[in-house]
Order: sequence, then C-alpha cells, then structure tokens
Amino acid sequence: MAHDVTLIPGDGIGTEITAATLRVLDATGVEFAWDRVEVGEVSLAAGGPVLPEEVYDSIRRTGVSLKGPVATPVAGGHRSVNVTIRKTLDLYACVRPVRNLPGIKTPFDGVDLTIVRENTEGLYSGIEHMVTEGVAESLKVITHKGSTRIARYAFEYARKRGIGKVTAVHKANIMKVSDGLFLECVRAVRPEFPEIEYNEMIVDNCAMQLVRWPEQFGVLVMNNLYGDILSDLCAGLVGGLGVAPGANIGEMGAIFEPIHGTAPDIAGKGWANPTGMLLSATMLLDHIGEDAAAARLKAAMDAVLEKGEVRTRDLGGKAGTDEYADALIKALAG
Ligand code: ATP
Repeated sequence: MAHDVTLIPGDGIGTEITAATLRVLDATGVEFAWDRVEVGEVSLAAGGPVLPEEVYDSIRRTGVSLKGPVATPVAGGHRSVNVTIRKTLDLYACVRPVRNLPGIKTPFDGVDLTIVRENTEGLYSGIEHMVTEGVAESLKVITHKGSTRIARYAFEYARKRGIGKVTAVHKANIMKVSDGLFLECVRAVRPEFPEIEYNEMIVDNCAMQLVRWPEQFGVLVMNNLYGDILSDLCAGLVGGLGVAPGANIGEMGAIFEPIHGTAPDIAGKGWANPTGMLLSATMLLDHIGEDAAAARLKAAMDAVLEKGEVRTRDLGGKAGTDEYADALIKALAG
C-alpha cells in the first residue's frame, strides 16, 4: 500500500533537489501517494497565501512530510514559513544527525553525533519590538514544559540508538535565569537514564570543542538558536550544508528536511547537492517503517560517494543534481 506523505518542495534549490529526491525514492520501490503543497514564494506567485491552510490539513492527515527549503526574507517581510509550520504543529524536536560520509575527506574522522534542538521557543518565540527609537528588544522564552520534553526526547533518542552520552549545551553563566531553567530541567530528567553519561558545556566552548574533538560527542541537546548555529557548524565538519539531513518531530507529525536554505547563489543552475534531502528521506523511510529501503538508499549513497566519480560541486566534483541522482538510481538497481 502506498504511503501518504505531504510533499512541500519549497523554493530556490528546493524544487531541484525535491525532483531528484523523488526520482531516487521511486527507484527504492517504496510506493508513495504524495500530497503536494506549495508554500512561500511559489504559493505567493500563484496568487495564494504565503502559508496555505492545506499544509496543516495535509500534515495532520498524513502525519509525515518531506520538505525542501523555503526562503525567509531577511530583516522584514513575512515570518519564516519553516519556523511557523514547526511552531503551529508543535514539532518541538529538531533532530540533526551528523556523520562522516565515505570518501568525503574532511579534517575530522569519527564524527557521529546528533544535535537535538528545541524547535518552538527560545529566541525564536517571535516576540520582538522597538522599546523606543533606536532600542529593539527580543525576548527569549524558555519554559519548564519545553525544556523538559526536549531533554527527555534527547535522552530517549540516545537510549533507543545505544548512544552512550548526552551533552546539554547552554549559556547559563550569562543567561542565569533562562538557560538556568533549561539546565535545571535537563538535570531533573537525567536520573531516568542512569546508563547514559551526561555532561554540560557552555555553548562557546562547545563550538571550539566541536572543531577540535568532535568524536567526543554523542547527543547534544540545546535550545533553539544554539541548535541553529551549531547545526551548520557540524554540517561543515562532514562536508558542508549539502550533506546535512534533519527532522522536526512532535506528537502531531514529523517533517523531514535538509538543514540548508534555498541557496539563491546556485538556484536554477542544476548544481545543488540533494544528499541532505536524500538523507532526510532515509530518516523518513525509517520513520514509516521502511527500514530496509532506508538502508538500501543509504548504502547506494555511500557507494556512489566512496567511488567518487560522480560528485556535486560542493564536494569537489563536477556532477549536476540530476547526474548524481542518476548514479544513485543505477547503484540502487545494481
Ligand atoms: P537560511 O537562512 O535559509 O538557512 P542560509 O543563509 O543558511 O539560508 P543556504 O541557502 O543554506 O544559506 O546556503 C549557504 C551556502 O551553502 C550557499 O553558498 C549555498 O550555495 C550552499 N549550499 C546550501 N545548500 C546547498 C546544497 N544542497 N548544495 C550545494 N550547496 C549548498
């Protein structure tokens, strides 16, 4: 039976990597009934709203979505579509696994960590205003409920996968009340998971440790903004934004999407690397119980990347998005 999945192709390179991902997914033999919904610029250009209600209706029905990046205007314009969807559906856990890929040489070996980022509060609460002329204020909202559930999610994620260590990342030396509450909540959950090693790290030190000894980390749990920044840093450890997958998970559903943005500098050129979206698709396949197909897709990507003949430009190759997808389809068939 075909799996009902909401498809949000996004804009910029989103449409290109989505098309490539759909072709590769088709080659896995898993059947999907895609419910395609356009948002952001694409919806606006068709005379629709920036965020049509169908998005929520569809995800509430299917419970799962594959999504490409959607552009967010900088300093003004509409609110981030990505953040609004995550908050409206209360997809509180942003999960971003980071691993070395075969054949992709970086200064770091042994990277196998996962960032678990709180997705609904922190400095993304959207509460910003001018206090008076020349003075802006942005509120960071940390709640007991939000911090406790993300802490529990992180420890449970580690337990399920046999990951031996959880690190809470914070800045409670400066933000004593807000990050202090976050730490208090993680510490309260921690005794439920006695088999898991636990430590705490200040976010600036964590950034340094990640680019010196990334192999020390297992699961890192943190609030929204630190997670956003450290996710990109971690993508850089293993080959860049083009290879980094992610998932946004809550009680109401799950959205799988690469961590990168719409890359306007290369959009329309056919150069984008779909690996981040394809790895997100393997997470989706696992989520819907198609573990064998997920493993085959992962193995096909490993084989093509290891061989190194067909690689996108961000990884030092010359292949375009479609050529790389073709190589993956061939690897899946073989
Ligand atoms: P956002 O604010 O939406 O997160 P961003 O400012 O982080 O966006 P990205 O769109 O993620 O920007 O792009 C950052 C850089 O990484 C750009 O130079 C872009 O070309 C490159 N990049 C991002 N994704 C890919 C990809 N899939 N393939 C190749 N290059 C990519």
